[in-house]
Amino acid sequence: MHKVNFKIILSFLFLLLTNFIFSQKKFIVVLDAGHGGSDHGANRSYADIGRVAEKDVTLTITLKVGAMLEKNKDFKVIYTRKIDEYPSLSDRTNLANRSKADLFVSIHCNSSKRPTAYGTETYVQGPDQNDTNLEVAKRENDVIFLDEKDKQTFGSYDASSPESLIALKLQQSKYLESSLLLGGLVEDNFVNKDKRFSRGVFQKNLHVLRMNAMPSVLIETGFINHPEESHYLASEKGQEEISQSIYQAIIDYKKAIDRKSGISAVVKKPEPEKPAEVALKNDFRILLLSSPQKFNDGDPALKGLNYILPIKENGQYKYYYGVTNLASVRDINIRTAKDAGFRNAYAVGFMPNQKLNSGYYTIEVYVGDKLNGNSPVLQTLKDVDRNKENGVFYYTYGKVYTLEDAVKLQKEIEAKGIKNTIIQKVFK
Ligand SMILES: [Zn+2]
Repeated sequence: MHKVNFKIILSFLFLLLTNFIFSQKKFIVVLDAGHGGSDHGANRSYADIGRVAEKDVTLTITLKVGAMLEKNKDFKVIYTRKIDEYPSLSDRTNLANRSKADLFVSIHCNSSKRPTAYGTETYVQGPDQNDTNLEVAKRENDVIFLDEKDKQTFGSYDASSPESLIALKLQQSKYLESSLLLGGLVEDNFVNKDKRFSRGVFQKNLHVLRMNAMPSVLIETGFINHPEESHYLASEKGQEEISQSIYQAIIDYKKAIDRKSGISAVVKKPEPEKPAEVALKNDFRILLLSSPQKFNDGDPALKGLNYILPIKENGQYKYYYGVTNLASVRDINIRTAKDAGFRNAYAVGFMPNQKLNSGYYTIEVYVGDKLNGNSPVLQTLKDVDRNKENGVFYYTYGKVYTLEDAVKLQKEIEAKGIKNTIIQKVFK
């Protein structure tokens, strides 16, 4: 009698346990080996090792990462391709969306007109969907028009409709933060484990990132046209190291996500003491809102937040809150912004001291009626530029090429008593 009861209890416990284990949803990762088939991607021939083609390197690395993840029962891996074929970009994102994946990782190799360019970089969704249009898509996704299906998608994709803009923006702010987290982990692993040179984590409007309804990154594992790096990319050692680093980043990413949602607290023992936080490579500012209207410090539209840096771009004022290179502070800043009422606020990465490729920063020192010669602005500053648009006069001062220099210049002007100036990004 006693024995039977014990057995029943045991099997009941076992049932509970298996139920618990199987009810833990697998973490679905879509691995996307860039290019394939007739699309070779970047490629270059070397006398000693022959031709190195991006499509081959990306496939090998992808399969290695996949094999490592598949050994872990917490993960389910979906491949956009496992052989040398070309799924269209829409096929790749449709597959990811249909399978309700938790993560999309696209693996590529870089190339540059500059033969000296080298290092790794990771892309996440672009910061500004206003720029999203067919021209941008065409320019940045140079393989888009290889496929009839892609043509149809892009033919019907109307970036100027307000509905698709709003949907895109909401989608972005939700996934951008997670994508930045993974991007940072990937680059950290390349640097710390493999001693690679990281060019950083960047935002860019790329089709495979934009059309995914999940956190997504595109990893550029190195430059095919850089002789030394190309040899590394083609080597067994290089491919193994790169795969290990991407694998480790995905593992760390899932841990971080689980910690956030409290899963690890139930299943695992508390982690040993946390080491000191390592600074991120990028600075992060929280984008609160974009508006054609200029708000000065203390304006109710800014909801009582201080430390706001407005940057004018394409006639829109973008209001950024705080700046930090610590993930923990960045997360607190996002929280603060949301609590203040900016529900769609999200973190934007800025590479420190990054020079603009084209265009420059200037300081907008006055907007309004035409100033006369003895106004304080024109008395204080030499070589102020004047522009008239729709009957309004815009006065700007100075020309610098990094945001840091622009902030410095703005402070100098403020010190001279000219207040409420705005940093402006001018495109050429
Ligand atoms: Zn590529």
